[in-house]
Amino acid sequence: SRSDITYFGAGPALLPTVVLEDAAKALLNYHDTGLGIAEHSHRSQLASDIINRAKTDLASCLDIPDDYEILFMQGGGTGQFAATVYNFVGAWVARKLQDILGDTERDPTDPKAIEQLKEAVNKDLKIDYLITGGWSHKASVEGERLLGSEHVNIATDSRKTNGGKFGTIPDESTWKLSKDPAFVYFCANETVDGVEFPGFPQSLQPGPDGKGPIIIADMSSNILTKKIPVKNFSAIFFGAQKNLGPTGVTIVVIKKSFLPPVTSQPSSSLMRQLGLPIPPIIFQYETVAKNNSLYNTLSIFDVYIIGQVLRKFLQTYPDKVEGQEAVSNKKAQLIYDAIEAFPEIYKIIPNKAVRSRINICFRVTKGDDIDAAERAFLEEGVAQGLTGLKGHRSLGGIRASNYNSIPLEGAEKLAKFIRAFAMS
Ligand code: PMP
Repeated sequence: SRSDITYFGAGPALLPTVVLEDAAKALLNYHDTGLGIAEHSHRSQLASDIINRAKTDLASCLDIPDDYEILFMQGGGTGQFAATVYNFVGAWVARKLQDILGDTERDPTDPKAIEQLKEAVNKDLKIDYLITGGWSHKASVEGERLLGSEHVNIATDSRKTNGGKFGTIPDESTWKLSKDPAFVYFCANETVDGVEFPGFPQSLQPGPDGKGPIIIADMSSNILTKKIPVKNFSAIFFGAQKNLGPTGVTIVVIKKSFLPPVTSQPSSSLMRQLGLPIPPIIFQYETVAKNNSLYNTLSIFDVYIIGQVLRKFLQTYPDKVEGQEAVSNKKAQLIYDAIEAFPEIYKIIPNKAVRSRINICFRVTKGDDIDAAERAFLEEGVAQGLTGLKGHRSLGGIRASNYNSIPLEGAEKLAKFIRAFAMS
């Protein structure tokens, strides 16, 4: 049964049982309305209340400042690989056009201004990616597909200095950032490769005036596991399915200065004249923001679950994400300590300084046949109720995903098993 296993899968992850028990009731009859939560209109007051409460609680958990908007979107992290490009390239164009027009009364459709803008696009439009694993790589490939490789700058690719493999983060002094990129993108925690940025990169810090490069981060697999300096980011996104709720909702936290009235997306005709892509309307942040995430039919059931998870989170941790961070770190330490106690038997894949607290990737090198050793490890694990430990299909090996649903006892049980397997 559910209580007999500890599930270390990489996502979707387990949800708290009490949340699911309440949700089962809410699916049939929400708050005695006679209608289930998935049947109520997304336009109802009840739906707005669920959305607004989830936004408030998320802002509270993560200390999101007031000058940020929270959007509930669809299309997964993968959808955001595209949405970030469309919206932040649009913002870059809007900014350049403003620079060209200055404070004059010039008409924004003035052919001369557009010529100048075209030149700026051809010469200067860049989006920068820090590639440290499979997910940031995929994001950069989407950027190239939408914008053309001439506009994509791979500021660093960790495979280049690590024998073609992921597992490190190259020293910041070697990153080749563009001068005024539409954004610098990184993935805070690489779910497949087990690489996590240990902190916010020094070279991307804002200056004393609060101004810095435009930073976007994918936090799909480590959101709500550590405190983050939200104000350093222009946008953060994460799928709900690991630490927040069921699959189907992707959250974007975006600085309001990238939304109207401060920044508006350029008209589609201007973007067409510049040869730049225009987002499908459901991927246009300003449209989603203007409609409080209800431009089209949002799954209120999913947002309801997210809200319940956040409520429980706030009840469990009065000091919010810092409380969870301490537990996440402790669980990771227990598991890594067990692995490191047997260097002959296990090999941790990523470099120690950047290894993930959340997706713990290692090989079982016991005996001559690694495949057989890993099969045995997985089988014996399952027999003890430790499931979902198989590494990503592209990499093999073992991956223990230490999401928030793994209790401390679950991590202890895994650590004990790792030690016992090594000694058997
Ligand atoms: N980014 C990261 C870090 C992920 O772990 C994942 C999915 N596991 C994605 C992006 C893609 O998310 P989705 O499958 O929801 O599109």
